[in-house]
Amino acid sequence: MDENIKQSRRAFLKGGLALSAMGLAPAALASTPDNSIQWDETFEVIVVGSGLAGTCAAIRAKENGAQNTIIIEKMPVLGGTSAISGLNFSVVNSHLQQAQGISDSAEQFAEDISKAGGYQNHRHLTVKMAETTTRVLPWAIERGCRFHDKLKSLGGHSVPRTLYPVNGGGQGILRPLRAFYTDKLSGEIRRRVKFDKLHMNAQGEVIGIQVREQYFFDPNLGNDDRENTTGVVKHYRATKGVVMAVGGYSRDVEFRAMEFPNIRDYIPTTTHRGATAGALKSLVAAGAQTVHLSLMRFAFDIPTEDLQWGALVDPQSGNRFLSEKNDRQTVAEAICNIMDRNGGRFPLNIYDQDGIDNFHDKQRLHLALEEGMMVKYDSIDALAAAEGIALPGLKATLSRYNDDAQRGKDSQFGKDMAALKHVSVKRAPFYAIKARPKFNYTQGGVLINENAQVIARDTAKPIKGLYACGEATGGLFGRIRLTACSCPDAFAFGVIAGEQAAKA
Ligand SMILES: Cc1cc2nc3c(=O)[nH]c(=O)nc-3n(C[C@H](O)[C@H](O)[C@H](O)COP(=O)(O)OP(=O)(O)OC[C@H]3O[C@@H](n4cnc5c(N)ncnc54)[C@H](O)[C@@H]3O)c2cc1C
Repeated sequence: MDENIKQSRRAFLKGGLALSAMGLAPAALASTPDNSIQWDETFEVIVVGSGLAGTCAAIRAKENGAQNTIIIEKMPVLGGTSAISGLNFSVVNSHLQQAQGISDSAEQFAEDISKAGGYQNHRHLTVKMAETTTRVLPWAIERGCRFHDKLKSLGGHSVPRTLYPVNGGGQGILRPLRAFYTDKLSGEIRRRVKFDKLHMNAQGEVIGIQVREQYFFDPNLGNDDRENTTGVVKHYRATKGVVMAVGGYSRDVEFRAMEFPNIRDYIPTTTHRGATAGALKSLVAAGAQTVHLSLMRFAFDIPTEDLQWGALVDPQSGNRFLSEKNDRQTVAEAICNIMDRNGGRFPLNIYDQDGIDNFHDKQRLHLALEEGMMVKYDSIDALAAAEGIALPGLKATLSRYNDDAQRGKDSQFGKDMAALKHVSVKRAPFYAIKARPKFNYTQGGVLINENAQVIARDTAKPIKGLYACGEATGGLFGRIRLTACSCPDAFAFGVIAGEQAAKA
């Protein structure tokens, strides 16, 4: 990185720290005297964000008596990352677990999440989310959501507990929920309305928001939140509460670079185009406590758990560089380091037929083959030629790998190859797939309590009138978010936020 940029980042970070060290409450920046605002419209509950969390919150607010509820969305399309999500939904004590006699509990689910996250999570929130999934599933089904009648058994979950939607991922769930909200409950949704800041009264309570209507998100701007000046400023009053369901910030390269300096700017993200940090910064300016902003999650084109069945090699040398059984963060960080040295080429994971036969998620395997991300070859020579890998290095690597597999112990990186059934890379056909880490989630966000109320940094107490849910919040997961646990979070805390705001 350019030294000037590094210096300006350091200066920026130092400035931020200095502000809080001086005890200058950022809340003061957002506070507005009640009578100085000319309200354009009044609602009981305002929900910011039209993803899974926001849609659930708006429905529950209406169902709990908030007549005048609105969802605002900055983008021209609704649904955020939820719309492109696989929407695998882990649930405790679902009808499918009961039918199969699977014993599960909220504590057990929370323990699986805590273990994956290195016990860095706020466990009471994790347990609350886990127990809430039990009532949310039938609630969602009653409102038109449809799931396959099979449970997925996913890596890191101690029992099968994950449902997945029919009708294609996130859209298959959002469509019926949205239709329920607009058609059955006469709820309102407005697109291209951007939330800019919270209005707070002298007591530090949230009383409304400032938005821009007719806002045109511009993906070509370096920082849309700061540079985009489109739209007409309006002030919306909220008599019961504001629910911030604004999602994560994986696509905000500038913010990412400040929070995760170890991760390169070239790492792509699969999240929706509007996943930026603007709304999070407004919450910080209003005095919200943040948590885990420097934690992020990677996903690969195949399930991370299935990396272990093959040999991950640097295409330049043909050498392995770590145990493929490592967690997703460790693998992704090692890949960045290798790519710094090899001219930006993604490493390749190489399997033989035995490795492929052991994949636990065949659905994603077939998708990778159909979409050409994974390619099949008759021989290692053909694979090396097509993928541009140094053949002598690759042959030496696989020879050692296969000997180790037979013995059951990886002599280079300690992978337990006996536990992996001595699977080698020697039985044709062979398969190669680029190991491309992609950002698909940010664990950080604002801290909430079990009622989805946002916690103030200065007082450690809830900010009255302010709720948050889904990926906008942090602290439920810790270092690594267990797979298929963000949608349960968005469902559970979306429902809770809507209920609590309506009752306020
Ligand atoms: C490819 C992919 C697959 C995934 N698959 C799974 C899975 O199978 N299971 C699982 O558990 N998790 C999965 N995840 C993660 C999960 O889908 C998301 O974390 C979750 O859907 C987030 O929901 P949300 O409602 O909190 O946020 P979002 O769905 O992102 O919604 C937030 C909305 O808020 C809007 N917004 C933001 N700022 C403003 C503003 N200032 N004004 C107005 N609107 C604003 C955004 O435009 C967006 O529409 C996946 C993620 C990806 C990228």
